[in-house]
Amino acid sequence: MVTEEQIRMLVQKAKEAEKRAFVPKSGHAFGACVLSEDGEFYQGCTVESIISGLGTCAERAAIDHAIVHGKYVFSALAVVNESICYPCGACLQYLAQFYQVAEKEMLIIVADKKGKFRVHSLFELLPHAYFTSSQVGKMRAYRGKK
Ligand SMILES: [Zn+2]
Repeated sequence: MVTEEQIRMLVQKAKEAEKRAFVPKSGHAFGACVLSEDGEFYQGCTVESIISGLGTCAERAAIDHAIVHGKYVFSALAVVNESICYPCGACLQYLAQFYQVAEKEMLIIVADKKGKFRVHSLFELLPHAYFTSSQVGKMRAYRGKK
């Protein structure tokens, strides 16, 4: 259960992260924030690369940030842009991987910088995600990992 207060915090923290995005090529900055199952917030922002294809989306940066802190189970993720913009397919698939770890639905909050937002479920946005059956046991072993 994600509270309204947690949604408000996710949007606020994603907006803060957006200010730190590294976007010398496009100038198109995104900020994200993920909520771990135990109630912690981890921010991420767009990091572009001069080498094509090496950049990272804010959503994946937020997940990777949480993983550095030993978090693998997530309740919600918010992404903020100038106007409401949805996560790319690669990020949705990356998030679906962590659904397989958690076996719990994740909320995706898309927001603009003025605070307008929409709440979706991950599978509303990616209804036919790729799932592995051969690696799932190894993935779920991360649930209780510290
Ligand atoms: Zn993305």
